[in-house]
Amino acid sequence: MTHPGATPSDKHKVVIIGSGFGGLNAAKQLKRADVDIKMIAKTTHHLFQPLLYQVATGIISEGEIAPPTRVVLRDQKNCQVLLGEVTNIDLQNQTVDSILLGHTYRTPYDTLIVAAGAGQSYFGNDHFAEWAPGMKTIDDALELRGRILGAFEQAERSSDPVRRDKLLTFVVVGAGPTGVEMAGQIAELADNTLKGAFRHIDSTRARVILLDAAPAVLPPMGEKLGQKAAARLEKLGVEIQLGAMVTDVDRNGITVKRGDGTIDRIECATKVWSAGVSASPLGKIIADQSGAEVDRAGRVKVLPDLTVPGHPNVFVVGDMAAVDGVPGMAQGAIQGAKYAAKLVTAELKGADPAARAPFQYFDKGSMATVSRYSAVAKVGKIEFAGFFAWLAWLFLHLIYMVGFKARLTTSLSWISTFIGSHRGQLTITEQQAYARTRIEQLEEIAAAVEDEKAAS
Ligand SMILES: Cc1cc2nc3c(=O)[nH]c(=O)nc-3n(C[C@H](O)[C@H](O)[C@H](O)COP(=O)(O)OP(=O)(O)OC[C@H]3O[C@@H](n4cnc5c(N)ncnc54)[C@H](O)[C@@H]3O)c2cc1C
Repeated sequence: MTHPGATPSDKHKVVIIGSGFGGLNAAKQLKRADVDIKMIAKTTHHLFQPLLYQVATGIISEGEIAPPTRVVLRDQKNCQVLLGEVTNIDLQNQTVDSILLGHTYRTPYDTLIVAAGAGQSYFGNDHFAEWAPGMKTIDDALELRGRILGAFEQAERSSDPVRRDKLLTFVVVGAGPTGVEMAGQIAELADNTLKGAFRHIDSTRARVILLDAAPAVLPPMGEKLGQKAAARLEKLGVEIQLGAMVTDVDRNGITVKRGDGTIDRIECATKVWSAGVSASPLGKIIADQSGAEVDRAGRVKVLPDLTVPGHPNVFVVGDMAAVDGVPGMAQGAIQGAKYAAKLVTAELKGADPAARAPFQYFDKGSMATVSRYSAVAKVGKIEFAGFFAWLAWLFLHLIYMVGFKARLTTSLSWISTFIGSHRGQLTITEQQAYARTRIEQLEEIAAAVEDEKAAS
């Protein structure tokens, strides 16, 4: 099926997969290029993932961090935004297949920029996902918000102290930046925003546990900053358990193997999974056809110009690409995408593809917030923590958000939360918390019915 609304054109066809940091920046960088761009993404929005945890803990709304991509690119006439999940890439015939509501569309390309990002990894235990949602999408964040606030609601109605304790125990698995941010914010939600709002329970007695199989908090930030973040979390009352590997997750809790080999159990209703990433399966499709390798996280080991062997017109950027020295962070995707788009523009003007300079990553540093007024930051060899790191974090995140209105409303939400302890997004619905589980159950039932039909 071809694309309705698409005008046939003899211009150079650029297909971009993904509307995240990589995809959006590739498209914008090609704004003035004489090309015909099709951006295909499975979500209608450009998601600012670094602030997802604030949606999950009721500080900001999902609209503030996820503007519709087609509105963002409204004035860029050389770009058509298409909703659909890419299911196949044919490197030989230079086409991309995508599916929207059962319809398959085939899109030809001259240049392909793949920026489909990464999903959550449960290290082969995908069944954990039902009880421990990750933090990758708007659905994840809304589901977690529903579960976190729903647990407080149920605890208020419970007369069984054991059940109450379980409902008021929140476990965050993975002590990287997302885990640290989530643990800190659940603790602040319980201690500040919800304090005094219940009559039967005391929200400040909620137990927040941050655990990780690794021996340190925030390992990529180095030992000193990791310890500072851990100290700040402990001051907030977060229990940190390191060298603790999760071996099972169910409705009522998690099973943990400790460093000394002992196994124990933590009864907890709400679990958050922020322990690993797995690159988009499109990486494997590209690797199989090009002879490129994929690493353990499914990332494509690209050539120095971010392309794959034998296909100088196919770029893989962002979280899907394994490039030495480039972290799986927004800047890696932004810089990789801009590099690819600049090569396309230059070569359309006659530059020699054989003379490409390799991609070079410029490290602008990394940071993570721990709680209000506290963050850790590392820029080159300079490390700093505390209030100024937190201010720098606020400022930089505002700069990278898309749209003036989103920046303004987010600033107001932050003032209200960080100065006044109020959170404006505490509305939850039953469907937000449990719809996905129910949809999956319905799909299983539908599949079983199909199997039965086929067998009879
Ligand atoms: C919770 C969280 C917090 C983070 N915090 C920070 C931070 O503080 N600082 C920082 O620098 N980085 C942070 N990151 C990492 C950063 O967000 C990523 O490195 C960055 O988003 C990678 O950009 P990308 O374009 O490769 O992928 P993404 O931004 O993930 O975009 C992928 C796009 O591909 C689309 N897609 C995926 N599969 C398909 C398919 N089959 N068909 C069509 N479309 C598809 C998706 O819908 C999406 O539009 C964080 C990430 C998370 C999850």
